[in-house]
Amino acid sequence: MKRRKFIKKSGLSVGGMLTFAQVKANKDLFGTEKQSIGKPVCIATWNVKDATQAAWTVLKESGSALDAVETGAKVEEADVNNQTVGKGGRPDREGNVTLDASIMDHQGNCGSVVCMQNITHAISVARKVMEDTPHVMLAGKGAEQFAIEQGFEAENLLTPKSAEEYQKWLKTSNYEPVINIENHDTIGILALDAQGNLAGGCTTSGMAYKMAGRVGDSPIIGAGLFVDQKVGAATATGMGEEVVKTVGSFLVVELMRQGHSPDKACQIAVERIVENNPEYQKIQIGYIALDKYGNSGAYCIHPGFNYRRFDTKGHELITPRSHL
Ligand code: ASP
Repeated sequence: MKRRKFIKKSGLSVGGMLTFAQVKANKDLFGTEKQSIGKPVCIATWNVKDATQAAWTVLKESGSALDAVETGAKVEEADVNNQTVGKGGRPDREGNVTLDASIMDHQGNCGSVVCMQNITHAISVARKVMEDTPHVMLAGKGAEQFAIEQGFEAENLLTPKSAEEYQKWLKTSNYEPVINIENHDTIGILALDAQGNLAGGCTTSGMAYKMAGRVGDSPIIGAGLFVDQKVGAATATGMGEEVVKTVGSFLVVELMRQGHSPDKACQIAVERIVENNPEYQKIQIGYIALDKYGNSGAYCIHPGFNYRRFDTKGHELITPRSHL
């Protein structure tokens, strides 16, 4: 059979791309009908049950996806035992805790704060940037000043535990992020509310012992987070530099737009990083994605990454496939 004829017959197109007819008929790559599997839904990177539950509670009570992701992220930001986010986060190599966060709604509005100090709820400041300024990003002192003007309390985010670990780290000053060990781990939350609106948020203290002024993927729209109401949403965790280089979350959403399932879209985006980086075995990257129908998926380089999903059937901790 001639190649073109075969393609026509099988209904599949070259290189995993969907035919126009498949996209129009709302079918995935295997010809299966995409269906709404029930709203509302929320998912979050890592096993942050309390945070995901808090987001779910908002959704269950007919709250908005935007309120849900902010509420969920705030739980982790306030938890001093989570040393990768908010208060209690591990500091940079000068001993300063600096936070990155971003938020995006179903209308494509977004806001973020970059390298902000002394304010626990970076996600809420990001939302204020989105809603109350003509800008998308505020950085450093400007972000902190804006937060204080908005009524946020300034506090010392360096807890005794993180300070003690930092003092130990100073003895070697060796910057080598350990895979799946908590010296990184952004909390990213994606939600689809009962009205069918999507939103996403992510918050982090970034890589522990990073250089002063270092910014990761999390506050960069398209890298650490992206939401497109027509398609779905994605967020990332892991070595932010690699996510920035491939505009990872945007890539995942665009792959879903082409008809890939959330799982497959995350896989292709992770493999893009693997292909580009001969040292990929030394890093972890995890993506999670949620499409507008409520289907979710994820993929990572190393096993050990998981995500929590809440929907009308209950909740589960999902271990995605991994490259290694
Ligand atoms: N992506 C974050 C950053 O690079 C850290 C992480 O999620 O592990 O800042």
